[in-house]
Amino acid sequence: MIQHSRRSFLKAGAGTAALGVVGPFAVLDTLSAQVLESAADKVMPFPLANVRLGPGIFKEQEEINARYLDSLAVDRLLYSFHATAGISSNATPYKGWEAPACELRGHFNGGHFLSAVALASAGSGNTDLKARGNEVVAGLAQCQKKIGTGYLSAFPKDLFEHLVEGKRVWAPFYTYHKIMAGLLDMYVLTGNTDALEVAEGMGRWAGDFFWPIGAEQRQRMLREEYGGMNEVLVNLAAVTKKDRYLETAHLFEQPVFLDPLAARRDELQGLHANTHVPKVIGAARMYEVTSDRRYRQIAEYFLEEVLAARSYVIGNTSVEEFWKTAPGQLGGTLQWKNAECCVAYNLMKLERLVFGWTADSRWMDAYERALFNCRLGTQNAQGLKQYFVPLAAGYWRAYNTPEDSFLCCTGTGAEEFAKFADTIYFHRGSDVYVNQFLASALDWKEDGFALEQVTAFPVEQGTTLKVKSTRPDPRTIHVRIPSWTTGEAEVKINGRRLEAAADPGSYLAIRRAWQDGDTISIHLPMRLRTEPLAGDESVRAALYGPMALAADLGAGPTDAAARSLYEPFPKVIPPIDPLPKIAAKADFDASGWIHMDSAAELRFTAETESGKVKLSPLYQIGDQRYSVYWQLENQKGQTS
Ligand SMILES: [Zn+2]
Repeated sequence: MIQHSRRSFLKAGAGTAALGVVGPFAVLDTLSAQVLESAADKVMPFPLANVRLGPGIFKEQEEINARYLDSLAVDRLLYSFHATAGISSNATPYKGWEAPACELRGHFNGGHFLSAVALASAGSGNTDLKARGNEVVAGLAQCQKKIGTGYLSAFPKDLFEHLVEGKRVWAPFYTYHKIMAGLLDMYVLTGNTDALEVAEGMGRWAGDFFWPIGAEQRQRMLREEYGGMNEVLVNLAAVTKKDRYLETAHLFEQPVFLDPLAARRDELQGLHANTHVPKVIGAARMYEVTSDRRYRQIAEYFLEEVLAARSYVIGNTSVEEFWKTAPGQLGGTLQWKNAECCVAYNLMKLERLVFGWTADSRWMDAYERALFNCRLGTQNAQGLKQYFVPLAAGYWRAYNTPEDSFLCCTGTGAEEFAKFADTIYFHRGSDVYVNQFLASALDWKEDGFALEQVTAFPVEQGTTLKVKSTRPDPRTIHVRIPSWTTGEAEVKINGRRLEAAADPGSYLAIRRAWQDGDTISIHLPMRLRTEPLAGDESVRAALYGPMALAADLGAGPTDAAARSLYEPFPKVIPPIDPLPKIAAKADFDASGWIHMDSAAELRFTAETESGKVKLSPLYQIGDQRYSVYWQLENQKGQTS
């Protein structure tokens, strides 16, 4: 989130590459990525209510997040909304970006909070948080009614007037989007119809405000961050079937940003990352609702480009929140302020949308990369969230405070940790896609089909799917075979090895009349390898399976000034350490300088020029100082 007060791959194409033939009911299945031409034909996520996490690291993290959300009080969340509507309140306001004088106030309290509790309600059946969400919706509805114009915010309309007048103001539409999205989530995920009514009032006000303004002036106003206003208006149009919202959504499109993307040109240098990813999510939703392929081309090109030319090994992008370099040139950008967590949240939203159009496994590989390296691990035991993921050597994790921060990443993190179940399984017709390897259960009651996924992944190198079926009709289950696995990957049905190849970087399609009790065992061997920092072959990160490995550089600081986020980084950030240096002639595949100590605990040792260093997956790094990248001798001509 830009602060005005502080400062100015992989195997492409193949969706389903291999085919499974097993048992007397086996039928060939040759679904390819090209089949899914229209938005109406897409692969869809299951509703969150159909999926529950099973025991494991993700369930633990979900519960920690729910406890944090539960610690927040409704009257305190509503304080600035009440003040803006002229309703008296004795509550103590929260601080940070929710303080009564902060221009961003309301973004978390009336926005992310609602989205997060709606997701928690649908995704884990958390009725306490649902009730809390209903109370906030009722409070917001009261404020909107008191104001009387449809406008609803925790700050007065004056901030929008500042936007019109070109005065300095901090992203009023950004905050407006968060509130509309929270309300819409409360309607879609929990059925709160009052929330839809309030969201519609806000949508009408946005249109009434924006339509009379001339096109040129609107474009000037859109230079200020506006979140996903286009996305939430498309979503509102999709839910209500009212074209007016779609027409208003178009007003939030910027040709200066979208046209180069449509022409497959990377003109992202100098742009603020998290201001722009939501605009592309809006374009992606616009494609889904209008079938205008230009929006699809924009979304696909943007995602390909950002992942290939602008991302770090953890599956996220940005330095000091921006794209500061030419594409493919990330040398010299490792520092504290890498990889804003909101950007990962938004890239993952985009990845799951784009995946829906092609069932192309590379998008789910990318999703997994972000999930295991910059979502898992970014919440501490108190449910507090990181803002940046430092990638220079010697830094450590720092988190928001419980009641004095409310940063943008506090908000997107609260949502993320409530929706781990939303991308594990997709479907198309009766076909089921197993995208992610998280212990979980899918219950598709309408289709008489259920799956239980039992796994300790990534400690376990694979997963087991147990079928519960009440219908004898043949059905295809597509299992992602990640690009990071080896040719030794194998799949067994009821203990019998499938003859068909499980090609890394594809979906294995297994068609069969599934019987109740059938078991699919998937073995996905992991291997050590390295990837360069884009533009500098000598700076490399090591991976094992989907996990970036981090060097443990010793205990980190324990004082609050170093561990807590103030606007939104610690008060004290020491200079960058040199990257750990690997001896001359080191292999790019890492097998010569990294050794596994324990497969069960995912522990490794690296030989550096200054001695041995312990490694573990980055997500397991807690309080230690760490390094994700290594300095290797520059050996021109060697390939990874
Ligand atoms: Zn953020």
